[in-house]
Amino acid sequence: MDTVAKTTRAGGKRLILVVEDNDLEREMLSIILSDEYETVEARDGVEGLEILEERYEDLSLILLDVFMPRCNGFEFLKRKREDARYDSLPTIVMTASGAVEDEMRCLELGANDFLTKPYNAGIMLNRIRNTIRLRETASIVNHLTYDQLTGLYNMEFFYAAAMEEYASQPDCTFDFVASDINNFRSLNDRHGSEHCDELLRQLAIHLRAHLPGVLVGGRSGGDTFAFMTEHYEGDWNERVQEVMDRFAYHNMHVKFGVMEGADPSMPVSVACNRAMSALKNIKDIAGTTVSLFDEQLHQSMLTEQTILESMESALEEGQFKIVYQPKFDVQRGRIGGAEALVRWIHPTLGFVSPGVFIPIFERNGFIVKLDLYVWEHVCMEIKRWEKLGLEPVPVSINASRIDFDDINLAHKLADLSDHHGVDRSLLHIELTETAFSDNPESVTKVLNDFRELGFSTELDDFGSGYSSLASLNTMPLDVMKLDMSIVQKATELNDFRIVEASINLARTLGLGTVIEGVELMSEAERVRELGCDYIQGYFYSRPLPAEEFEACLADPHSLAR
Ligand code: C2E
Ligand code: CA
Ligand code: CA
Repeated sequence: MDTVAKTTRAGGKRLILVVEDNDLEREMLSIILSDEYETVEARDGVEGLEILEERYEDLSLILLDVFMPRCNGFEFLKRKREDARYDSLPTIVMTASGAVEDEMRCLELGANDFLTKPYNAGIMLNRIRNTIRLRETASIVNHLTYDQLTGLYNMEFFYAAAMEEYASQPDCTFDFVASDINNFRSLNDRHGSEHCDELLRQLAIHLRAHLPGVLVGGRSGGDTFAFMTEHYEGDWNERVQEVMDRFAYHNMHVKFGVMEGADPSMPVSVACNRAMSALKNIKDIAGTTVSLFDEQLHQSMLTEQTILESMESALEEGQFKIVYQPKFDVQRGRIGGAEALVRWIHPTLGFVSPGVFIPIFERNGFIVKLDLYVWEHVCMEIKRWEKLGLEPVPVSINASRIDFDDINLAHKLADLSDHHGVDRSLLHIELTETAFSDNPESVTKVLNDFRELGFSTELDDFGSGYSSLASLNTMPLDVMKLDMSIVQKATELNDFRIVEASINLARTLGLGTVIEGVELMSEAERVRELGCDYIQGYFYSRPLPAEEFEACLADPHSLAR
């Protein structure tokens, strides 16, 4: 590994190590150098090596005499060459005039240049300047080109090197592989960055050496690497498994995305992006190690692109519509509320599920705009019901975790509802439980604001996997909404104990309960017996367009079955 080019030391001068046994010559050298450089002096090779060990990071150059007692110049060069830390440090050897053989030997041992005695100060300073400049330029270039930790290319140079491979083998096909360490952040937290840096370095070296047919390797930042390989005919799954079985750090899970069969007609950046997309596709899937880029993924990438290109105009043109899914109030046997859900009929893609576009909007931040749009329309809708003489019910609106990055969120929603003259108690905020794991403090603060301002707060998707039971009682919540997978699982196993325990837990914590995803009469009966407060699901009603929902409000008992 290289060290960063040393520009100047304290006092603006670079530091030179002078290794020379003759006191007079050493003194003379130091005088010649003193205008431009600082010097540190060694009286023989042994002393020179000791200073090297201590100060190599500060040094810009070594001036080395050949004939010295204890350890001569040749020996010094040999020892220096054995230690990679000194690689970037240039050496100029001082020889007697006409000693061509000595000069040859020194150059072979890694010396960069030589000066003959007696010295000419002008020539000497010029050679020193040139040698340092050359080395520093090389070092800067090296820094730009290679990732200093892993020795892999930085991505820009990875692309360039991969293009050269394309150019040199225009009729061949290649594979692009992206790798990523699972949960690297938590490894870092647990083991510290020094340990994890070493782990990254070892992994890069291992993959560079053992993935089949590696041509180029790059580090795309963090713990993500990219490789270009010869096209591998075998099964990437099996091969990667073998490679990772041989890796020393077994308790680490590395995931791979592979774009197979790229040829020079596919730009390197596209091939690389595809490998990365394949990788991203299995990021959250436990137990899966390799993902190949395939047609299905290609389609979803195209869809994502279309979505990104059309989202702004869709919002302006009112393509996003809001549907209302009634909630059945078990106690009162009638409609007790609704959840507002967004719908998008795209002009070319047709119906796009929020399950598809919401995560995309969460990644690019557009969700904040969309949610605001939804909330505003919900306010207008509630006002409409009042004008029509219908008795409004509370509407739950979904808030994304991204919305909660805005510390003033609750106040903004308060302004919005005030502006539309909507009673705040008619708005319930649904927040999915995963939001808490991101930033528990600020989410808690915003939820507290919501409650203080008169809104109700609901924990969505409870039991889908991320709740920390330990902190549940400190979260400022009014309602717990059980994830629909729990009811579905209960039906499948004909065992409702988890549902029952969840309802009891909510009750112990003083929270109301909503059971979501109830599709069957048997499920509705069961959860009613278990004492839940509200039921939401296809059994009572699908999400309804505004006009149909109005009919439901007009006949509040129509849901009872
Ligand atoms: P969610 O908040 O958990 O919403 C419930 C989802 O379950 C809705 O899907 C709803 O249509 C569906 N559902 C309701 N009852 C049943 C049932 O009995 N069986 C089955 N299988 N499904 C049922 P939808 O509308 O596709 O929404 C998916 C997710 O998208 C929502 O999950 C929510 O996380 C998100 N989402 C929807 N609208 C918005 C929105 O306006 N803003 C934000 N931030 N997210 C939204
Ligand atoms: Ca919800
Ligand atoms: Ca839910």
